[in-house]
Amino acid sequence: MAIQWFPGHMNKARKELSTRLKDIDVVIEMLDARLPGSSANPMIAAMTRGKPSLKILNKQDLADPAVTALWLDHYERRPGTRAIGLDAGERAPAQRLIAACRELAPGRGGLEKPLRVLICGIPNVGKSTLINSLTGRRIAKTGNEPGITKGQQRILLADDFELVDTPGMLWPKIIVEQGGYNLAASGAVGRNAMDEEEVALELIAYLMRHYPDQLGERYKIGEMNGRQDYEVMEAIGRRRGAMLGGGRVNIQKTAEIILTDFRAGQVGRLSLERPEEWVVWEKAAREA
Ligand code: GDP
Repeated sequence: MAIQWFPGHMNKARKELSTRLKDIDVVIEMLDARLPGSSANPMIAAMTRGKPSLKILNKQDLADPAVTALWLDHYERRPGTRAIGLDAGERAPAQRLIAACRELAPGRGGLEKPLRVLICGIPNVGKSTLINSLTGRRIAKTGNEPGITKGQQRILLADDFELVDTPGMLWPKIIVEQGGYNLAASGAVGRNAMDEEEVALELIAYLMRHYPDQLGERYKIGEMNGRQDYEVMEAIGRRRGAMLGGGRVNIQKTAEIILTDFRAGQVGRLSLERPEEWVVWEKAAREA
């Protein structure tokens, strides 16, 4: 699957990040709770190795709570790592966030040595929304389309707690094939950079395996047992009236419907990967 990305921007971001990291005590990486593995940036992982790390599993309102719990546990087992689930509905996220960072860097804090925390995440993960909510004013631009450029900033969340925004765009690096599909399904990848039919078909295949009841219920298409993913896709198209002439289903339109529904949480609270699956996919990608 072709996903475009821009090595030039990436190199610039890498350089700026490496300069900035020198005086950082804790690195917050925002992940999409529906796809924590795929929405992580391997470059961030490599560059911040050894730094205390807080994983924020954001958009948890859209994710399967049981699977989010598995991921939180997965990250908390790593030394020097804490993880919290979050979504834009949380009214005052600062307290939980500050407390987790203080636990990670107990030696810092106080007016002498303010805690410096870097926040990063791939586009569209909800970073601007969170920063806006933390500061209580609109300083970071938010939008539905990934890739809106934002200025850099330092935000004082408490007298001795400084949040530093990451410079530039940090795109995900797609090493795991399923990760590419999951990023595309989540809306993290620009619409022109992917084949929506292929992405929707992969999504249906995963949902048939893990969430057959929700899928059947949402589209009123009955049992998933014994059906192929493309049959289910056609059934959804028919049900939703996405038709071409001659009784044929408009597959492109059906794919759009499915992806729009998924992104808006209309099919239910669904996660696209579990820690144990991710480990297997990653291993297969490394060995390929
Ligand atoms: P950024 O590119 O990481 O800065 O992402 P934005 O803050 O611009 O958010 C991208 C999109 O996700 C916007 O449409 C937000 O309204 C939406 N969004 C952000 N946080 C959440 C959340 O917790 N839950 C849901 N459902 N949507 C969110």
